[in-house]
Amino acid sequence: MLRTHTCGELTEDNIGQTVILCGWVAARRDHGKLIFIDIRDRYGFTQVVITPKPYPAAYETAKQLKCEDVVRITGEVNVRPAKTENPKIPTGLVELFTHNLEILNSSKDLPFQIEDTIEVSEEIKLLHRYLDLRRSTMLEKFIIRDKLNYKFREFLNRERFLEVETPFLTKSTPEGARDFLVPSRINPGMFYALPQSPQLFKQILMVSGFDRYYQIARCFRDEDLRRDRQPEFTQLDIEASFVSEEDLFKLVEEMFRFVFKEALGIDLTIPFTRISYQEAMATHQSDKPDIGQGQYRFLWVCDFPLFEYNEEEGRWNSAHHPFTAPKEEDIALLGKDMKNIRSRAYDLVLNGVEIASGSIRIHSRDLQQKIFSSIGLTAEEAQQKFAHLLRAFEYGAPPHGGLAVGLDRLYSIITGCESIREVIAFPKTQKGICPLTEAPSGVGQRQLDELNLSIKEKPEK
Ligand code: ASP
Repeated sequence: MLRTHTCGELTEDNIGQTVILCGWVAARRDHGKLIFIDIRDRYGFTQVVITPKPYPAAYETAKQLKCEDVVRITGEVNVRPAKTENPKIPTGLVELFTHNLEILNSSKDLPFQIEDTIEVSEEIKLLHRYLDLRRSTMLEKFIIRDKLNYKFREFLNRERFLEVETPFLTKSTPEGARDFLVPSRINPGMFYALPQSPQLFKQILMVSGFDRYYQIARCFRDEDLRRDRQPEFTQLDIEASFVSEEDLFKLVEEMFRFVFKEALGIDLTIPFTRISYQEAMATHQSDKPDIGQGQYRFLWVCDFPLFEYNEEEGRWNSAHHPFTAPKEEDIALLGKDMKNIRSRAYDLVLNGVEIASGSIRIHSRDLQQKIFSSIGLTAEEAQQKFAHLLRAFEYGAPPHGGLAVGLDRLYSIITGCESIREVIAFPKTQKGICPLTEAPSGVGQRQLDELNLSIKEKPEK
């Protein structure tokens, strides 16, 4: 056994016990014949005391210790002398009197200190992300993230949603961005696309009768990185059959109320405020105004236009995605008054930031085909891209709808972070680079040959 307790665990109840702790040296205070170290792990800190007698070997080792060395300490739990207690930490009434001290691994001098606030460039922090993540302010974000994910899952499982994993290697599902492409070695000249979202798979699961689906899903979009965008990000992706907008709003409101209460101890008022897109634009000149009620201001924005005009290409595009249903009463305007066709799409806005979007979907093959042609896809192109969806719609597709919550964005609001990069364990920089691994990187000729690929022109370094 390497350790008997964690560094956040010992209290007065353990006084007199011999225990073993493992962790990192967070601080070392050398008072000559008395050395103190604070030893840290994920669970907290424990103060350790080392004296030359009666264990001189431990004392000799302690003299050489450096911050962030990994140690294993066997000792006896003692009460701290009066006036030296630290009521701020759970282990603050006790200390460990060392019998044996082993250095399990030593650390080089640090590029930055493991402290709550540090003044270091993001490049350096990401290069040494393992050190950055040792800081308790960073760790806390991932503990909250884990708890929130867990509570979302708990709620959805209770509501009989099935978590289903959909493929990463797939065919492109355009959601307005470029795809990341993956060449297929065994199908030379062919490419998979990494999913921009599980959109079509979740709809196809509804055709399969799965009824209620969710997934904490990774999505990939090859966009020019604006301030708060990452090429890969995480969505809580939800789809349900035989539902109206009202059913989904109620479900999502109850989900947020449950999760905020259970994970954060916060009472949310539901139902959330609702506003139409038209009203939001007319009154607030924004489709994500910061209105609503409480510290956390949730707002549904509904009735988005189905199409938006693409000046450059001189044609109409889907405003959300082409699988969104038009409002029943506006279907007659197709091809006639495209601008005024309202969709059954909605966004959920939190404190003026869009955190979720979704829609009631089209489930009729004919209507889907009409929407494709309205956005300039010929029947042939639609067939080539979406044959699998159109075919599925011919075999009893139920009415369905759903949405996706952008978890990174939501978690950065909850933890008060300026950037989603702080709630992603291994994010990319704004240039799409991972300083830790140095991805993206070139590949060898052999790999290119195997994939039947050649690089047109060497890009300048
Ligand atoms: N797939 C959509 C998105 O990623 C969300 C949805 O319509 O469910 O934005």
